Amino acid sequence: MSEPHVRWCPHCRRLTQNAIAAPPAYDARWSDDPAFESQRVARLKRYCGACGEIWEAVEAPASLMDDLLELPAQLEDARRQLAMLRLLLARDRQNAEESPATLPLRRAA
Ligand SMILES: [Zn+2]
Repeated sequence: MSEPHVRWCPHCRRLTQNAIAAPPAYDARWSDDPAFESQRVARLKRYCGACGEIWEAVEAPASLMDDLLELPAQLEDARRQLAMLRLLLARDRQNAEESPATLPLRRAA
């Protein structure tokens, strides 16, 4: 156990004296470049001195969390663009089938 520090406890929902209950394990899943950024995110177990709960915490730069919070809106935007592209593709296919240039092929068939 390391020395207790004042940290946020998600169970008490306030700042309390916390201790690390297990050594941090760096999480390489968050990195595209393991040589450079593999130590940006760490998982560790914390023990709350006020309520006694032990939980797994993640320590990461706030900018990374901000990026993660934007992902649902980015996904929704990408889905809208995909739906629009599918609509345009279907319209183009329909126009191509109805265009006079394809009529001789239909007659020949
Ligand atoms: Zn607590």
